Amino acid sequence: MKVVQVATEMYPLLKLGGLGDVIGSLPAELVKLGVNVQVVLPFYYSMDLSSVSLVKTNEKVEFQFDGELQTVRVFKVVVNGVSVVLLDNGKFIGNYIKVAFAGDQPEVNHYAFFSRAVSMWLVKHAQDIDLVQLHDWHVGLVPWLFHHQVAKAQRNQPKFLFTIHNLGYHGFSDLSLVDRLGISNVKKLSDDPSFDFDARGDHQLDLLLQGLLSADFLSTVSPTYAEEIQRPEYCEGLCSVLQKRSSRLVGILNGIDTQDWNPSTDTKIVQTYTRNTVKEGKASNKRQLLDQLGLEVNESAPLIGFVGRLDPKQKGLQLIDEFLPVIIGHQARPTFILLGVGDPVWEDNFVQLAESYRDQINVQIAYDERLAHQIYAASDIMLIPSAYEPCGLVQMIAMRYGAIPIVHAVGGLKDTVKDGETGFCFEKYSVRELIDCTNRAFSCYRKKQEWNNLVARVMGVDFSWTTSAKKYQELYEHILRLMR
Ligand code: ADP
Repeated sequence: MKVVQVATEMYPLLKLGGLGDVIGSLPAELVKLGVNVQVVLPFYYSMDLSSVSLVKTNEKVEFQFDGELQTVRVFKVVVNGVSVVLLDNGKFIGNYIKVAFAGDQPEVNHYAFFSRAVSMWLVKHAQDIDLVQLHDWHVGLVPWLFHHQVAKAQRNQPKFLFTIHNLGYHGFSDLSLVDRLGISNVKKLSDDPSFDFDARGDHQLDLLLQGLLSADFLSTVSPTYAEEIQRPEYCEGLCSVLQKRSSRLVGILNGIDTQDWNPSTDTKIVQTYTRNTVKEGKASNKRQLLDQLGLEVNESAPLIGFVGRLDPKQKGLQLIDEFLPVIIGHQARPTFILLGVGDPVWEDNFVQLAESYRDQINVQIAYDERLAHQIYAASDIMLIPSAYEPCGLVQMIAMRYGAIPIVHAVGGLKDTVKDGETGFCFEKYSVRELIDCTNRAFSCYRKKQEWNNLVARVMGVDFSWTTSAKKYQELYEHILRLMR
């Protein structure tokens, strides 16, 4: 079985969040299972190519975009045993600086261009590919663009699986993008509902919606999120589309790269440790980090960490903002470290908050892989109070490092953290419930033996990709049987 995965980030070449982690580890795990996997990415010149050797091939694809003939050249690298195709175009791809979400027309143009390039590359290789897995809204146009070139009825063509990593991000464009894409016979195709560009009837093209409509099968990144997104609270106005397609929608939990995230071999942390040495190891990492950041060094007080994109819609920033001034006064005298980048208003807000509580709160507005590792290793507790969370990797990484997660019980957080057993969960999205939940965590923290048992238990939970990669393999086989 030959599978192509199309995405826009892959650790260690480029990572902004969980998607980069997933593409950095799932394909490699599938290769281990014997699946022939290739990854296709945009070639950003800012990528970190220090650990790979770049090969320029003679291959190229050409197409019209924005009224001009564009050439896309093909480069190749191998990442963790996975063959990766990098599509290069100086004008629309190479110098683009990818951010978590810009929400503007140049961003949509960029991904539409990449999707067009991918579709042209797929047309050339279609005979050799069984299935294409498309990751997130950035590449939602690919099935449409591919079928524009290759009639759906034609035999031996790849099937498309569209994976939703976050339904909160769409990629909206005005309809002029259709002209820019250089596609001629749009009208002819428009009696097929999956080829309706203005699918909401609001004169907006929605890249995410295109993926949901036009792929053969849909998946998302946890079983609970697969159910939630069919309900009004979480469906982002796409309930009817998702409900109609529910027999072709599954949730498969993400895993983490247990080699990269391994406290016993991690070269980014001050002192490595295992389940047996976590007490001393964590104390040493904690001491060092508190000292380095100028926080009060009190080993017996709980250290709470937060690592994540500062997205006010998703990551529970309002709760953190209200929660911190209250919890910081707790008799346990906790310290709190936040590492994140995102919404500038929230960046400023947290910096100011830290100014008011210098001894106990530290805020780092940065994307810093090393510091992230150090926070997981030093923290007693990791806070993940997301309003919604498709899967979430932070809680899984936290557990691997013996940091106990406090989570809002939604999406993948609900699927991975069991209240009282492997962390602390609150049901209702409210600051009151978050405070109560944290108080429960603090009272457990005081009972040293109970806490140590909890830490040992969470460090033993298996979040490796082994089970989930097998599920993807079975899903691919299921789709190919279904669509034969
Ligand atoms: P999302 O995909 O919504 O960003 P996830 O929990 O799935 O959230 O994954 C987040 C990943 O990105 C984790 O590996 C986390 O450690 C990392 N991360 C997020 N923000 C930062 C940051 N500012 N610096 C370093 N790593 C970060």
